[in-house]
Amino acid sequence: MLRQVAEGVLIHESEFLQSNAVVVHGRAGVLLIDPGVTGDEIACLANDLSDSGQPVVAGFSTHPHWDHLLWHARLGAAPRYGTARCAATVRARLSDAGAKARVAALIPPDIAEQVPLDLLGLITGLPAEMAQIPWDGPQVRIIEHQAHAPGHAALLIEERGVLVAGDLLSDVLIPMLDLNDTADPIEDYLAALRLLEGAADDVDVLVPGHGSIGGADQVHARIDQDRAYVHALRDAGVPGDPRVGPSATFGKDWLPGMHERQLQHLAQRSERDGTPG
Ligand SMILES: [Zn+2]
Repeated sequence: MLRQVAEGVLIHESEFLQSNAVVVHGRAGVLLIDPGVTGDEIACLANDLSDSGQPVVAGFSTHPHWDHLLWHARLGAAPRYGTARCAATVRARLSDAGAKARVAALIPPDIAEQVPLDLLGLITGLPAEMAQIPWDGPQVRIIEHQAHAPGHAALLIEERGVLVAGDLLSDVLIPMLDLNDTADPIEDYLAALRLLEGAADDVDVLVPGHGSIGGADQVHARIDQDRAYVHALRDAGVPGDPRVGPSATFGKDWLPGMHERQLQHLAQRSERDGTPG
């Protein structure tokens, strides 16, 4: 079921990790950001859109992780985009014959059968200098940064006051750093939060890739919460964060030990480099 969060902006929530697909109304159809997770859910979204006479005219994946790269034949054959770095990463990771089996192994077993991988990751990279999604609708500014995954992008729909944050600024998942692709994952994450902070004053509605929609009052609060977590990780401190430990909504079921794994990885990294973080 589609739910309006701002004028011309609707979300479709998945049962998996409270994932949010975002629909933006344009002149001739809709832009669909991170379409969803299970085949049934995406088909349901496709039905809702076709019932309301709204074809999908463009797609966008916020980053190169499987749960943001899915598609369904019923959504049609609109161009699907990501940042150039996102698309290059997808190409590098998915072009060999064993790729889909590797992806399937990452999906929680209880939903693995329901996730359609046929059209996984068929995205076109937008040139790095392209600051907006090319489509006929409200301007969607691409705020690219190097946190969580290569070429991760948040999207700002200025006219509607909506920030689509990808996998940053979640109220249910801790910041998950990109520990494999960057020299300084802590600083990269903090830089991304500063970028989003620069856009925050224009935001009335915050849509995280996973978790609850936030109002204007939530934007700075979630930026601060993510920053406090990243600082605690950097200083090997104990984060006083409701997203870690027994109070966590998803962390303990879907991503058990994620915080401990990040701590351990960073400790090994600083041992190797002789530098903190
Ligand atoms: Zn995700």
